Amino acid sequence: MRLRILGAAGEVTGSNYMIETKNYKVLVDCGFHQGQDEEKHEGELFSYNPADIDAVLLTHAHIDHSGRIPLLVKMGFKGKIYCTYATTELVKILWKDSSNILRETAEWKSKKNLRKGLNKVEPLFGDKEVETTLELRSPVPYDEVLDIMPGLKVRFREAGHILGSAIIETWISEDEGQKARKVVFSGDLGSRDGVIEKPMAFIEEADFVLIESTYGDRLHKSLEDTRFEFQNVLKYAAKNGSKILIPTFMVDRAQRLLYELTLFQKSFPEVELPSIYLDSPMGVKTTEIYSKYINLLSRDLKKMLVKGEDPFEPENFTFVRTPDESRELNKQNSAIILAGSGMCSGGRIIHHLKHSLFKSDTQVIFVGYQAFGTLGRKLVDGLKKVRIMGEDIIVKATMNTIGGFSAHADKDDLLKWASGFPKKAQFLVVHGEPKSSDSLASSLKELGYSAWVPTMGEEIDLLIEKPHRDESWSKAASAKEEARKAFVEMEEALEEVKDLAENVDPNTINDSDYAKVIPLLKSVKALFKIITSSANKK
Ligand SMILES: [Zn+2]
Ligand SMILES: [Zn+2]
Repeated sequence: MRLRILGAAGEVTGSNYMIETKNYKVLVDCGFHQGQDEEKHEGELFSYNPADIDAVLLTHAHIDHSGRIPLLVKMGFKGKIYCTYATTELVKILWKDSSNILRETAEWKSKKNLRKGLNKVEPLFGDKEVETTLELRSPVPYDEVLDIMPGLKVRFREAGHILGSAIIETWISEDEGQKARKVVFSGDLGSRDGVIEKPMAFIEEADFVLIESTYGDRLHKSLEDTRFEFQNVLKYAAKNGSKILIPTFMVDRAQRLLYELTLFQKSFPEVELPSIYLDSPMGVKTTEIYSKYINLLSRDLKKMLVKGEDPFEPENFTFVRTPDESRELNKQNSAIILAGSGMCSGGRIIHHLKHSLFKSDTQVIFVGYQAFGTLGRKLVDGLKKVRIMGEDIIVKATMNTIGGFSAHADKDDLLKWASGFPKKAQFLVVHGEPKSSDSLASSLKELGYSAWVPTMGEEIDLLIEKPHRDESWSKAASAKEEARKAFVEMEEALEEVKDLAENVDPNTINDSDYAKVIPLLKSVKALFKIITSSANKK
């Protein structure tokens, strides 16, 4: 029985792992590659036959974990997709959105190809595959051990990252009566503050742990500092009658912001904020799902809901559904508009930016990561002119970046979570850029764990006891270090020899010493010949 690493190894997106025994093959997550990872993996299909997969365990709805499941179905997967109740609802929204984006991109590429005399481009999957995939969802409750199939028990635990997000515990065995090996999949973990979600669960037992490392080498700003930054922009904008545009992801970040705006109004009743709009049909649907799963929300939010207050509906707030309503907002000089996409690579935020970037009283607040090449990144980088929908737009608006609203654990949170495991646990550090993953792996080793960053396609024998790869890895590392030291020594010796040879003046050698010197010089010559010929062969 083994674990196969098929994605998110040394990269943030494209989570995909396989548990394989002689009796079954089960996937944990099956996500899209996004941003720069997307180009690297363009056109890649599965390295396994989707029809052979017996089930999928899904940690949470985010597309980098769930996005390729409809493609899996299109290519023959017929098993069940196990995830929490809230996730079953969120994936419905996200997969339909993906299907729309894939269709639009394919149409756009087809038009371009047509002009070049090339073939039409088909989307990876469409609404039909999404519908079939939705039929396969199998909701599971949190905290209950479930027998998924012979030799596989699972338990979903709170991950505190987005609504419905889970850490998945698995107990794997191959033969009857065999002691199960326990593998824990962290999925994405939330931050310690757990502002709108419940905090993540701590798990005390595991043989192997796959831990995410998005922020494995960084610390977030404190909650107080983040709120202070946000409040300052709001106060300034309120005083000056500015328009505030907030490009945001519609799952989780938008709800967090609505809550922060509600809190602001409660804390500063003297400041009159302009009208607030959530301009996204997807955002509206997602917010409704958040309000429905009260039991999954943080204690602070539950308290508000019990009192009859809605944490996601600040005063003077409107959900914007139709494109006409959205266009109407262009006429307003003062407003707070939350719209997708989070990186300004599409969606309704585009037309808001087009109509307001040239005005000096516009404030743009970035609350999430802006990938290289996106309009969002260009604005954050301070470009003074950008091209939007074929038009050059002068940028006079003020750009604000507030990084502290992340839904991810930072380095301290990750290490605290990891410390809950016994020292025999072996950590596989995934879901992070190499620098971040390496840094977290080193910190875990300092805590006394065995930890490594697996490579794409790596297979881990689940029966192997600690220390696993570390030993061979550290052996290889120390052998490398020895070789490096020897090389430096040799290089120094060679330099010395060259220096000496250059300073030797044959005229200063005594006649009586010729007989002694000649054989020595001949052997030096032979030595250099051997060295250079072996170098040439290399
Ligand atoms: Zn996520
Ligand atoms: Zn993720």
